[in-house]
Amino acid sequence: MKAGILGGGQLGRMLLQEAANYTVETWVMEKDRDCPAAHLCHHFVQGDIRDYDAVYAFGQQVDVLTIEIENVNVEALERLEAEGKTIIPKPSALKTIKNKILQKQYYRHHSIPSPAFLVTQDKAELATKTDFLPAVHKLGMGGYDGRGVQLLKKAADIENGFDAPSVLEKMIDIDKEIAISVAIDKKGAHVIYPPVEMIFDPYLNLLDYQLCPADIQKTTLWKAEAIALAVARNFGSPGIFAIEMFIDRSGDVWVNETAPRVHNSGHHTIEAHYSSQFDMLWRIMLDYPLGNTALIMPSIMINILGAEGHKGNALYEGMNEVLAMENAYVHIYGKSQTAPGRKMGHVTILERDKTDLLRKAGKVKKALRVIS
Ligand code: ADP
Repeated sequence: MKAGILGGGQLGRMLLQEAANYTVETWVMEKDRDCPAAHLCHHFVQGDIRDYDAVYAFGQQVDVLTIEIENVNVEALERLEAEGKTIIPKPSALKTIKNKILQKQYYRHHSIPSPAFLVTQDKAELATKTDFLPAVHKLGMGGYDGRGVQLLKKAADIENGFDAPSVLEKMIDIDKEIAISVAIDKKGAHVIYPPVEMIFDPYLNLLDYQLCPADIQKTTLWKAEAIALAVARNFGSPGIFAIEMFIDRSGDVWVNETAPRVHNSGHHTIEAHYSSQFDMLWRIMLDYPLGNTALIMPSIMINILGAEGHKGNALYEGMNEVLAMENAYVHIYGKSQTAPGRKMGHVTILERDKTDLLRKAGKVKKALRVIS
C-alpha cells in the first residue's frame, strides 16, 4: 500500500516513525526539502500543499492520502476522491474545519455546544458589533497557533480585529481547556482517548504543558466525551479528530475547535498509551482493527520551544540532565533553525502521581533550552 502525507512537519515525522511498524510505502509532500519529515519517508516530493496541481499529481501516485495540517488544497482532494482515492479525513470534513465560520455553523447545525457567535465580513462591520463584547475575534481562514485570534474586551480593542471574514465569539469564563481525540475507522467503529488538560503560555499563546488524564470531574468527563463523539461522528468521515473544549466555571463544556488529524494534544500517546494517535491513524488507513486508547500511565508533555533572543542554528542545552531522568522521553523534531517560541521538540514524562508529574515538568522546563 502506498500512503501519502500532505505536510512534512513534526506531526508528519511522528506519523512516519510509527509507519515503520507496518508494511506501507510512505510518500510526503512539502515545500521545504529540509522539513522534519523529509528524511523519514520513502519518497519525498517537493511541492506546495496549497497548490491544486501539485496536490492532484501527488495524490495520483498513492492509494491512501492523509494530512498533517489543514492548510492543504481541498479542491484537489475532492477531485482525487471523486476518482476513487481514499482520503482520510474526507475532503468534506476538511472543508468545514478549515474555515472557522463553516466550523462554527457546523456546531450550531448539529446542536453541539460551542460559544455563541456572529460572522463579521470586515472591520467596518465589526465596529457595529460592540454590544457583543467581550468577545474573541477569529479569522475565518488561515489562522494558526493563536495568530488568527484576538481578544476584544472593549470597544477600543476593535482596532485589533481582523479586516476579513471572521467569527466573533462570546468570551467564555474558562476554568480548564481540554482536548479529546476520537478515532473512527472506515466502517464507522470508534474509540476515544482519555482527556488531556492544556496549560498555555500566556505570552507566546502556545501550548505549554499538557496533562493526561485531565483533572476533571467524572460528570464533566461524560459530558465532554459525548460532545467530542458527536463532533467527530457527524462529519461522516473516518480519521482521527482532536476536539478542543473549554470547561467554564459552572462546569459546562463548550467546543472551541476541531482538528481532523493527528494533533499536538496527542504527543504523549506515543509512550503513555497502548496505541498512540499515530499508530491509530495507520490502523485506520491500512484497514486494521482500531487500537487500545487506554493509558499505560498518567503523563505530562512539555513543549520544547526556541528560547527568547536566539535565532539561527539550533543547539540543545540540558539534554543530558533530561535524558538522565526516569521515564522522560525526549523528541527533537530535527529543525535546523531555531527562533523564539518555535516548536523544536517535546518531552513526555510518565509518573503515577500528578504532583510528581508537575514537579518533573518544571525541572525539564528549567533544564532544557534551545539556543543558537
Ligand atoms: P488557534 O486555532 O490559533 O489555536 P483558538 O481558537 O484555539 O486558536 O484560540 C486560542 C486561545 O484563545 C484558546 O486556547 C483560548 O485560551 C482562547 N480563546 C479562544 N476562544 C475563546 C473564547 N470563546 N473564550 C475565551 N477564550 C478563548
